[in-house]
Amino acid sequence: MTVGAVVPAAGRGTRYARSESKLFTRIGGRSVLRRSVESLDAHEGVADVVVVAAGNELDLVERELAGVAKVAGIVVGGPTRCDSVRAGLNALPERVDTVLVHDAARPAVTPAVIDAVIAGVVRWGAAIPGVPVADTVKRTDADGLIQETVLRERLWLVQTPQGARRSILESAYRSLDPAAEPPTDEAGLLERAGFPVAVVEGDPENVKLTTVADLNRLEGALAAHERIGPDGMGRDGGDGIPPYRTGFGYDVHRLAEGVPLWLGGVRVPHSHGLIGHSDADVVMHAVCDALLGSVGAPDIGTWFPNTDECNRGRASREFVAQAASVVRREGYEIGNIDIAIQAERPRIGPYREAMRQAIAAAAAIPVGRIGLKATTNERLGFVGREEGIGCWAVASVYRTAQSGPSDQAAMGRPFRA
Ligand code: MG
Repeated sequence: MTVGAVVPAAGRGTRYARSESKLFTRIGGRSVLRRSVESLDAHEGVADVVVVAAGNELDLVERELAGVAKVAGIVVGGPTRCDSVRAGLNALPERVDTVLVHDAARPAVTPAVIDAVIAGVVRWGAAIPGVPVADTVKRTDADGLIQETVLRERLWLVQTPQGARRSILESAYRSLDPAAEPPTDEAGLLERAGFPVAVVEGDPENVKLTTVADLNRLEGALAAHERIGPDGMGRDGGDGIPPYRTGFGYDVHRLAEGVPLWLGGVRVPHSHGLIGHSDADVVMHAVCDALLGSVGAPDIGTWFPNTDECNRGRASREFVAQAASVVRREGYEIGNIDIAIQAERPRIGPYREAMRQAIAAAAAIPVGRIGLKATTNERLGFVGREEGIGCWAVASVYRTAQSGPSDQAAMGRPFRA
C-alpha cells in the first residue's frame, strides 16, 4: 500500500473575517497551510502530498511550502472543491493506491487520526474521521420552528483527512453527474456513487479554521501538541514553560556516638549515627530538596518542619515520596537523580546498591535512574574530622503534562503524614 495525500488549498474562506487568506494566517510562526501539509509530511505512512492552489496564488503556495520533503506537486485547482481534489488526484504519482484528502485549514490533525483513517481504508475501502455530536440536534422549518428532534446517537461531525482506495475515488469521480450540485466532501461523492464509507475516531481538536474564533482554539491545540511529543516527553513549545528542569539539594547532619546511622534509606552498621529530628538520613534529605527544587517548590524544612512532632523519628524515605509526588503534581516526571555522599567513615560501597534501591522505591522510579557515589574528605574539615556527613544531590525532571509549574508549588502547604 502506498498512501498519497491531496490538500485542496484553492478555496476562498468567506466566513473568515480577516483581510488575509486564512490559509496564510500564522500560528507560532508557521502558516496554517504549511502546518496542515507538514502534518501529512511528518506521518511515516504518507509517501506523497499534492497541494492544489488557486491559479493566482500558485507562487505564494510554492513559497509557503518550500522545503516540505514529500510535496510531489503543486497544481492549479478548479472552481469547486470537487474539481480541485480531482486535479490533485490526477497529479498524484502512479504508485499511490490509497488517497487521503485533507483540508488545508486543518493544521492540528494528529498522527493518531491519520492512522485511524488509513486503517479504516484498509478495512472498508473508504473511511473518514468523525466525532460524536454532543449537543441535542433539532430540525426546523424555514421559519425556525422545530419540526423534529434528531436522535444524535448516530450523528457525527466529520473531519479530514478523508481516505479511500484510489480506484474507488477515481471510479466515483467518473460516475459523477456534471449537471448535479457537486458534493461538499469526498465521503459525499463516494456515498453518491454507492461505495460504503466508515467513520473512524476523529479528534475534537482537529478543528478546521473557519472563523477567527477557531484561531484561538487551534493555537491552544497546536501549542499543546508541541509541548508534548508523541513519546509523552516534553518539548519546547516556545511557551516559556521548560520541558526539562533540574533541582539541587545539599544537607549535612552531625554525627553522634551510639545513634543508629541511616543513609539512603539503609541502616548502616557504625559506631556513630546522624542526629536530627527525623531519622536524620542526610542522603534522603538532599534528594528531597533536589526534587522539590526542580519544580521551584520550597525546601524540605518548609514541608516537614522539625517543630512538628509528627515528623519526629520519621523515616525520611517518606519525605522523598512526598517530594516526588509534588514533582508529578506539577506536571513533571523524574528523569534521574545523582547523589554524592561525603563521609570519612563508614565505607559506603557495600551498601550502595541497597541505597539506590531504597531511593528508587521512595521516588517510585526505576533504579537505573539513580546514581550514587561516595567520597571521603581526605581528613579535611568537619567531614574529615568525622563530625558530620554531607550529601549533594541533583535531580532532573521532564515535562509530562500540558500545564507547567503552578504557583501552588511555591505556596503549597506543608504535608502531614
Ligand atoms: Mg536534614
